[in-house]
Amino acid sequence: MSTGVDIPEGKRLNKYGDLENLELTVEDWMTRWEKKRIGFHEDEIHKLLKKHLDIILNGRKQIRIFFPLCGKSLDMKWLADQGHTVVGVEVSKMAIKEFFAEQNVSYTQESVPGMPSAEVFKSCDGQISLFNCDMFDFSSLIPQKFDGIWDRGSLVAINPSDRQRYVKLMITLMAKGCHYLLDTFMYDQDKCVGPPFSVPELAIQDLYGQSCKIQLIESSDALTDRQRLWGLDSFIEKIHLITLKTDADSGAFV
Ligand code: SAH
Repeated sequence: MSTGVDIPEGKRLNKYGDLENLELTVEDWMTRWEKKRIGFHEDEIHKLLKKHLDIILNGRKQIRIFFPLCGKSLDMKWLADQGHTVVGVEVSKMAIKEFFAEQNVSYTQESVPGMPSAEVFKSCDGQISLFNCDMFDFSSLIPQKFDGIWDRGSLVAINPSDRQRYVKLMITLMAKGCHYLLDTFMYDQDKCVGPPFSVPELAIQDLYGQSCKIQLIESSDALTDRQRLWGLDSFIEKIHLITLKTDADSGAFV
C-alpha cells in the first residue's frame, strides 16, 4: 500500500501516518502542542489515580506531589483542590498556559533565578507551581523533595535511551517515605511506534530495582479502538508503587 510518504531506511511512520523519529526532541513535543496533536490528554481525572490515590497519600494529608512531564493534566487541579501542593514540569509553555486558562486558575509567571531558560507559573493561592523547562534541567531548581509522585504519560513518553537518566533523576526527587505511583503500558513495540513507549516489567525492575522496592498494584486490559487503530491487539496498563529501599531500612512508615 502506498502511503504517499517517502520512508528513509531505518525510519517508519507513526500511528498518525507521519514520518517520525523514534527519538523525540523537546522541540518535537512543542510542535505537537502547537499542532494540537495531544491525544494523550484526558478530559477527566484519571480513573486509576482516583482509584489508587490512597496509596500515594498513605494516610497523610496536604502532601507535596510531583507531576513529571505534566502537560495540562486535570489531575493536578483535582489534587490541589484537596489541599495538596502540586509541582509539575513541562517543556511546552503552551500546555502550561492552557492548563491555567482551562482550569480557571489565576497565576503569576516568574523567571527562575540562575536558570534563564526556565520560568515558573504559580497559582495565586500557591498550591500549584509548574516549571516550564526541560525535565533534565529541573533537579537543581527544586528546594524540597516530594512526598508523592504521579507518573502518568511520563516514563512512557521519555525516549527509551533516556530512561536511565530519567529514573535516576526521579529517585533523587523522592523524599523519605515518598509513594511514587507509576502508570505504564505494555504492548508489542514492533507493531507500532511510541510514544507512549511500551515499558516491559523487566525494564521497570532494571530501572528502579536497585534503589527501590517495586510493588505491582494493578494490571488491566486497556485496549480500545484507539490502540486497535494503531495496529495493536493487546495493550496492558500497569500501576506500580515505587518506594525507596532506604525507607524500609530506616523503619520509616511505608
Ligand atoms: N502527564 C501528562 C502529559 C503526558 S505527554 C498527561 O498525563 O496528560 C508528555 C508530556 O511531556 C508532553 O506534554 C510533553 O510536552 C512533555 N515533555 C516531553 N519531554 C519533556 C522534557 N524533556 N521535559 C519536560 N517536558 C517534556
